Amino acid sequence: MEKALPFLRARPILEHIQNNGYDAFFVGGSVRDYIMNRPINDVDITTSATPDEIESLFSHTIPVGKEHGTINVVWEHENYEITTFRTESEYINHRRPSSVQYVRDLYLDVERRDFTINAIAMDTNFKIYDYFNGQLDIERKVIRTVGAPEARFSEDALRILRGLRFKSQLGFKIEDQTYNAMRNAIEDIQYLSIERIIIELKKLMTGFNVSQVLKDLNALQLWHQIPFFNALDINRVHITQPLTLEQFVAISQYILQSTSSLKSLKLSNASTHYISKFILALNYLNQINNHKHLSQFVYDFGLDLALEVSALRNTLEANAIQLPSQSIFHADSIRNAFNALPIQNRKMLNINGKDLMESLNKKSGPWLKTVLRELECAVVQNYVDNSKQEMIEWVKSNVKIS
Ligand code: ATP
Ligand code: MG
Repeated sequence: MEKALPFLRARPILEHIQNNGYDAFFVGGSVRDYIMNRPINDVDITTSATPDEIESLFSHTIPVGKEHGTINVVWEHENYEITTFRTESEYINHRRPSSVQYVRDLYLDVERRDFTINAIAMDTNFKIYDYFNGQLDIERKVIRTVGAPEARFSEDALRILRGLRFKSQLGFKIEDQTYNAMRNAIEDIQYLSIERIIIELKKLMTGFNVSQVLKDLNALQLWHQIPFFNALDINRVHITQPLTLEQFVAISQYILQSTSSLKSLKLSNASTHYISKFILALNYLNQINNHKHLSQFVYDFGLDLALEVSALRNTLEANAIQLPSQSIFHADSIRNAFNALPIQNRKMLNINGKDLMESLNKKSGPWLKTVLRELECAVVQNYVDNSKQEMIEWVKSNVKIS
């Protein structure tokens, strides 16, 4: 059975732990996804062995989250997270506890997990241990906390965001009491670290059900609790399809004409760079009226970004952002335009500043940069061939140099 493969691959790890006298189970998202016939990300393993005991059982371990009970074991070139059974300790000032309480009983471990669908364990013989009716909730497509939702959200408000994230990814309904408790505890989200929030938001945005979930986020006034977004009127942004968090930020900034700094989101440089580029691309869209303009667009912004903008047509149009007509701007025409580009970058231009200075008999100056850009565009848009002689002639008859 193909869907059992990730578990079969990890089985020797669990058996090794069991042969040394400890319990070990699969748990969390992988078991949930296995039951739902969804593709499995990574298999999480939970065990009665302490982190020290796990480290002594395996030759290649990484103590990534050792203080929270998690050891990574590298097994046949794959990385497995092995977490020791633990209970929920008290949260003080909305902060996660610095020390954890290890226990030797599976029940106590699944009892501290967030939702019933995530609290199902499975042993090496694929026998299920489902103390909180998680399978029934999967069948009924319901997101429900393990235990009283008020208590669980006041222990850790990130669970609110996680519940919404699962609704976005799985298309489940949030059970009424759970949803009401989310509303009551929503303000506690402001105390969470932005890094934890961003991890969940990224997964939430790419879920197939994101447009429904964004209505919940607005109704719960969740954006008020998160830096950067709290200064924006996100209710005015309409999202009709899954997208990345970076795309969501770019589209929101563009629509709301915000110039707020992204710093408080602590995104990577690559993400921040992508967002700026995406906004520039949105600004350029209304200048694309023909295939020459399209060539310039794919040259300046690259194939991937152009395809991504085009794939978001539905959402962009839902926000009254005008895209070039389908006949000019769609995935195939974008790919064709890119493949037909005579040059991919400035370096491929068969002329340089020195050539220009010599042939025009002019000293170096700001004009050079301007003329090189004009040449670059002329070549990209096929007004002139990428040959030195022709480009010099073209400059002489087409460019006014001040
Ligand atoms: P994914 O498929 O995205 O990995 P997941 O359910 O495995 O989803 P993880 O963030 O990998 O989510 O967490 C693994 C498991 O740990 C969860 O299924 C849940 O049982 C438990 N868990 C994670 N975060 C929390 C939390 N904040 N409170 C309680 N339990 C949690
Ligand atoms: Mg997981």
